[in-house]
Amino acid sequence: MPDVIVVHFDELALKQGRRPYYERNLVYAVQTAMRDLGPVQINAVHGRFVVAPGRSNIPVDVLVERLSRIFGVHHLLVGVEVATETLLIVNAAVALALRAKSSHSISTFRVRVRGNDRRVHRTRSLEVEVGSVIAVATGWAVDLDAPDYTLIIELAAGRAFVLSQRIEGPGGLPYGTSGFGVALLSGGIDSPVAAWMMMSRGMRVGVVHFHARPYTTEEALTKVYRLAHGLTRWQPTILGLMVPLADSVHRVLVEHGSAPLRTILTRRFMMRIACALGAPHKAQALITGDALAQVSSQTVTNLAATDGASALPILRPLVGMGKAEIIRRARQIGTLAISEEEGDDCCSLLAPRNPTAAATLAEIAACESALPVAEMTQQAVESSIPFRVRFEDPSPTKPPK
Ligand code: ATP
Ligand code: MG
Repeated sequence: MPDVIVVHFDELALKQGRRPYYERNLVYAVQTAMRDLGPVQINAVHGRFVVAPGRSNIPVDVLVERLSRIFGVHHLLVGVEVATETLLIVNAAVALALRAKSSHSISTFRVRVRGNDRRVHRTRSLEVEVGSVIAVATGWAVDLDAPDYTLIIELAAGRAFVLSQRIEGPGGLPYGTSGFGVALLSGGIDSPVAAWMMMSRGMRVGVVHFHARPYTTEEALTKVYRLAHGLTRWQPTILGLMVPLADSVHRVLVEHGSAPLRTILTRRFMMRIACALGAPHKAQALITGDALAQVSSQTVTNLAATDGASALPILRPLVGMGKAEIIRRARQIGTLAISEEEGDDCCSLLAPRNPTAAATLAEIAACESALPVAEMTQQAVESSIPFRVRFEDPSPTKPPK
């Protein structure tokens, strides 16, 4: 009896018209997530995928762990595939139930049959038949509402899957179905969560980090590089750019003496530079980890002033979230521990003692009219360093060269 994992999709079923498109992207996402493992079998079978180790001999646990991080996956069911004869289904079901009994304390169970092959087996009678044999073999009682153990039989396209272990997927939409966005990745807790949230909606994400070398440390760059690597658990390859601001932007702003506005002016340069860097990759949006009123630069007025410098829409998926909720999510996706490592921030370096919480557009315009905005942006773009991280690479210990 070959081991199989049956993968059920999220939301995709709702997008009837575009279903083949979403399915293609999900197949690609599954293949990409498995690319370093070997020839894993992936088949589409009537609205679900069936994944099997095939000749690769990869343990099912490893496949399950990978599949549970693919956006678009609603849940996984693990079990075996058998021919559609009732006797074989009953035997497989009893074997799975006994295996569960040996490792878990279970006293109630139910059997569910689903699928579109009702011609072969009548759902209800198969449930009763399998259920009665399991009851005898295990001594468990039937509980249809809240059982300790559920056995699922899926019948599809002339195949039978006997499944017992259910693992939740992350949901969302598959990689590549919502265009490309550039996430502004600081070394903080928030921005990796923001990037993850847009990935979960099917957006392919690239990252940009601004630093103030030599006034900030090499460790801070390494940390951001490690954060990008942490995100490859969710998007297996990530392209990024490290952008030095010390000469191109910070020095000029300090010379112009616009102290209270410096944070917002720097933010506006970040947006211009990120748009310029994203243009060759056809970026459709910027992504930031702003949360409303979390710090003084995140008032509605300042967020709007930042928007004004961006040629692309700025997506702020955390805007309505509280810090505790963001931290919980960061822990869940695996970036919190990296964000909590040591590392200075390019913006705190030049932050004025009294940053303005309500920059007026007129004040900003007056300051910027005295600055060579296009040249500053261009200089930052030209001095940026590209990098690429992949899931299968070791976590970086040095910044990209
Ligand atoms: P984070 O935890 O993501 O650093 P934060 O709460 O510290 O966020 P800010 O420092 O005001 O908030 O930054 C707001 C957003 O601006 C960040 O979430 C990030 O998207 C972007 N950002 C800030 N600093 C940088 C940087 N040095 N490089 C790239 N993006 C940055
Ligand atoms: Mg920050």
